[in-house]
Amino acid sequence: MNFISTRNNSKPVDFTEALSRGLADDGGLFVPENFPHFKMDDFSREHLASGPVSFSEFATKVLFPFVAESKLETALHDICHDAFNFAIPLSFLKDDPKTAVLELFHGPTSAFKDVGARFLAQCQVRLESKGTVIVATSGDTGGAVASAFANQPGFQVVILYPKGKISGRQEKQLTSWGPSVRAYAVLGTFDDCQKLVKQALRDPALAKRHRFISANSISIGRLLPQMCYHAKASVDYLTQTGHRPTLIVPTGNLGNAVAALWAKRSGFPIDRVILATNSNRTLVDFFESGNYEPGATIATLANAMDVSAPSNFERLEHLYAPTESGPLHPSLHFLKQDVTAVSVTDTEIADAIKRGYSDSGHIWCPHTATAVVAKERQQVEHAIICATAHPAKFETIVEPLIGRTVPVPPNLAATLDGTSVSFELDANFDVFSAALV
Ligand SMILES: *Cc1c(COP(=O)(O)O)cnc(C)c1O
Repeated sequence: MNFISTRNNSKPVDFTEALSRGLADDGGLFVPENFPHFKMDDFSREHLASGPVSFSEFATKVLFPFVAESKLETALHDICHDAFNFAIPLSFLKDDPKTAVLELFHGPTSAFKDVGARFLAQCQVRLESKGTVIVATSGDTGGAVASAFANQPGFQVVILYPKGKISGRQEKQLTSWGPSVRAYAVLGTFDDCQKLVKQALRDPALAKRHRFISANSISIGRLLPQMCYHAKASVDYLTQTGHRPTLIVPTGNLGNAVAALWAKRSGFPIDRVILATNSNRTLVDFFESGNYEPGATIATLANAMDVSAPSNFERLEHLYAPTESGPLHPSLHFLKQDVTAVSVTDTEIADAIKRGYSDSGHIWCPHTATAVVAKERQQVEHAIICATAHPAKFETIVEPLIGRTVPVPPNLAATLDGTSVSFELDANFDVFSAALV
């Protein structure tokens, strides 16, 4: 399959080409030229006949049409096997059996970013012998990318994060990997970090010194694998309940949510997708007014979603544009049939964390709590809540609210060792470019 630009003005390229380019020539983002149509029967029968399929087998099946006819086609099975080496369970709530929680936090850095970062790394090491992986992070991406590439000889990682705007444990996961991972604490917001990365990827002078690999959520190598858990969760939910679930996705850069919509477009039994955002209201305002007007970024309790200009917005628009060619004409009407955006305040997040624990013993991370609130507000009956991070990553927020400590799972504990080293940086491209020796 080929990938085209959201701006419809570049030559279609195959999966590996889209992966290595990061951005299309016209500045747009790569999207699949078309979508496969999976039939549910295949997956359901396999379920019933031979017991549950492993996630990596399922993912290989889902991703095959996208990777087919590229250099990585024959390696896909091994890539999935090596990347997806942790569980992604779907657990139904005891006190609310129509609601299931998709636990995306059992990877090495305890957030869903491990899925995309590990898949991307396994692809890259099969394509290149060396490279500089560059990534802006609002908290969790950087750790997942560092973890996925840290032990790959020939690769170094450059991370930009907004100084003072991420949790202590998140920062530890960015800064404690030794010399192959350089972490820059940028004096600015996540959006500033993202701008610096975009500029670096386009800069001809830097390209002479570095073979850059983009690892942001604009990378097709991160987005595609995220389709797989939404797809599998929807099949499992339908098999167990007889209903198509609505997915409730804590949303910042729209990576996880676009992946969910790509899974839906590929035929998986997903009813609607609800974008649970924090007080950064760009998406909610867009759904209400049709105007896309990112403002200043607001710092919230759900910091990995502190984004005012979601980097995957063009992909969302493109998916619902009435024609495949021609200029972008966002069709809010079509979009609203499948998608709703909800904004959740810090007060509501805190309240959901408190009530989750006192009412039923659940401990939600602040991001997952936005989805819990969105589900209640939209009165979704058949729901899958995407639990995007482990609450122990955000213990300084969660523990005072629930009045107890949150046990640190072993995978998380293992990433918190080591000495922290980071470099402070002005949000200025010339300074950044000079620092990138
Ligand atoms: C990255 C992140 C999000 C937001 O995901 P997007 O793909 O950027 O929309 C939500 N929750 C957590 C814990 C994250 O790390």
